[in-house]
Amino acid sequence: MNLSALAGNTSLKHQLEGETARHGLSHAYILSGPAGSGKHTLAGLLAAALVCTGGGDKPCFSCTPCKKVRGGIHPDVISAGGEGDVLNVARVRALRSDAYIKPNEAPRKVYILEHAQDMNDSSQNALLKLLEEGPPYTAFLLLTDNATALLPTVRSRCQVLTLSPVTVQEAEAWLAEHYPDHTLQERSAAAHQCQGILGRAAALLEGERTDPQAIEGAAQLLQRLCARDELALMEFCTGLERDKWDRDQLAALLEEWLLLLRDGLVSAAGARLDLDPRRQKLAELAARRLSPKTMMQAAELAEQLHTACGFYVGSGHIAGWLGAGLAQLCR
Ligand SMILES: [Zn+2]
Repeated sequence: MNLSALAGNTSLKHQLEGETARHGLSHAYILSGPAGSGKHTLAGLLAAALVCTGGGDKPCFSCTPCKKVRGGIHPDVISAGGEGDVLNVARVRALRSDAYIKPNEAPRKVYILEHAQDMNDSSQNALLKLLEEGPPYTAFLLLTDNATALLPTVRSRCQVLTLSPVTVQEAEAWLAEHYPDHTLQERSAAAHQCQGILGRAAALLEGERTDPQAIEGAAQLLQRLCARDELALMEFCTGLERDKWDRDQLAALLEEWLLLLRDGLVSAAGARLDLDPRRQKLAELAARRLSPKTMMQAAELAEQLHTACGFYVGSGHIAGWLGAGLAQLCR
């Protein structure tokens, strides 16, 4: 397979290349990874590979089907579940009816299902039937932030491809290719700040800023944890509940908080970071006041809560969980 358009993800590429060489492409994949991690790039590559008519490594990028997939105009590559298109039972049943209509021009019909984690159990069960009993020419690519939100029965019918964050070097190389007009310094800063998520690096270069409230909130959390002030931490988290922070705001806060912890760990290891002065100060504060173990535990908690933000967990509950977890780290 030709997966060069996907940055990083060496082990995923090996997995896919090995399996494809042995058994050919599967009829169902789950593409799992956070927003901006390359799920759409990989879905495009798999869809093109499924309909490619070129010889040699697939997708070839030069045959007509490959070009059509790239242009988003291939009639046998169908996207569902995007903005404003909810994958409820009725929608999944409609897809099932569509699946029984033979492909227009390709030997396969490829369905790309976005936000697969938002499907409720009934929708997933309807999809399961299609995965199990659908016509042999159909293929399904389920895109999700969180594969564990899918029913085990659905997961067991699919090959799970987990996209991993890219390294700083991989991010820099990708940004150099896609953002040549930015300075080396700008690209390097974005590569360091993106936590291995290229979509985030691109957003940073394109001027999309993190919510200032999230930045301020994460700094507050760090200062209060460094002071081992259990009460102040609880107060802050109760405030999140009182001010009705929603799950997206909390997710932004947690992402920022994870970045601060990572900077603190890097600083504690004695490495130099290329940060703005305020972040630099916070990183040094964390390195001085918190043990690496505490920072790791705080990061683990933040990761768990970030995952919870993707489920139907109430934001008040997440804020309370954060307060209780951090208070425990003060002891
Ligand atoms: Zn091709």
